[in-house]
Amino acid sequence: MRRSIKNLTREELVAWLTERNEPTYRLDQLEGWLYRKDTVTFQSIPNLPKTFRNELEKEFFLYSLEEVAREEAPDGTIKFLFQAKDGERVESALIPERNRLTLCVSTQVGCRMGCRFCLTGQEGFRRNLTRGEILDQVLLVRGAIRAQGRELTNVVFMGMGEPLDNYEESLAALRTLISERRLKFSHRKVTLSTVGLIPQIRRLAGEGLDLTLAISLNATDNKTRSALMPINHQYPLEELIDALMKYPLTHRKRFTLEYVVLKGINHSPKNAQKLTQLVRGLRVKVNLIPFNPFPGSPFQRPSEGEVLEFQAHLRQRGISTFIRKSRGQGILAACGLLRWKEGT
Ligand code: SF4
Repeated sequence: MRRSIKNLTREELVAWLTERNEPTYRLDQLEGWLYRKDTVTFQSIPNLPKTFRNELEKEFFLYSLEEVAREEAPDGTIKFLFQAKDGERVESALIPERNRLTLCVSTQVGCRMGCRFCLTGQEGFRRNLTRGEILDQVLLVRGAIRAQGRELTNVVFMGMGEPLDNYEESLAALRTLISERRLKFSHRKVTLSTVGLIPQIRRLAGEGLDLTLAISLNATDNKTRSALMPINHQYPLEELIDALMKYPLTHRKRFTLEYVVLKGINHSPKNAQKLTQLVRGLRVKVNLIPFNPFPGSPFQRPSEGEVLEFQAHLRQRGISTFIRKSRGQGILAACGLLRWKEGT
């Protein structure tokens, strides 16, 4: 049975090449075509012998995902819907912002975290994505936008799923992204977002990676946070903050705290005060994300004035706070709403 070539580790790829008595330079050649160029088929690789291309084709898929739909919102956000070999579907969102072009990738089909403000979370978990499937979102979108003369600048692991709940595959994809031999993304241009799985944050701390870590915070006390994010029962705020305190942030780096603003729930002056106390001693910036209602959601979107007021309260207390535009709302591609709306 054929398998995705990008699911092989470097060592596995070397072993496969060695079994076939391929010369050692074949590895670099192959990695260049797989990860740095926008190769469409094995047969289109010009500098590999025909017999070798046939072998690759017989054993592997070049891509484990196929684009099945694309939709652009008025603000320029483009949502890509991909289908895996088993028919499961995942999404990625390409978000243009000033001089940046950021791709938000999914790491699981569905999610088991059950955050109540998130549509994906309401629909449960189906399976983890493989490293090849995570990377193919980047590679396929990169190929599509390079064809328009544009280049991806940032990748965020913030789409469907909790990346640290699929630790091995997310990390393998991440390492491939920043590998000098492979996609060559700068550490600084990659962000991983988590609800705060503490054992995995501790493990990540020992990986020697200089990526940006974003924490989906959304509340300033355990009662509210547990009501919004069931994971808080297991890993409450104090333990989460303690894990962040011990995380080895490199010079001038700071954590990003994602904060979905829910009307009447988490944006009072008292919330600003509590948030300030909570993060004392941590280098952070806060991204406020006005909630995007979805059908059946129990929450409401705050007014612009309410979000601005909360931002002002945090800034007065010396916390760098930004308001993230809810991008691609019309196509349900905004944060926490990354799910294909059938029939749109
Ligand atoms: S917000 Fe993220 S972690 Fe929470 S349920 Fe949605 S996809 Fe999962």
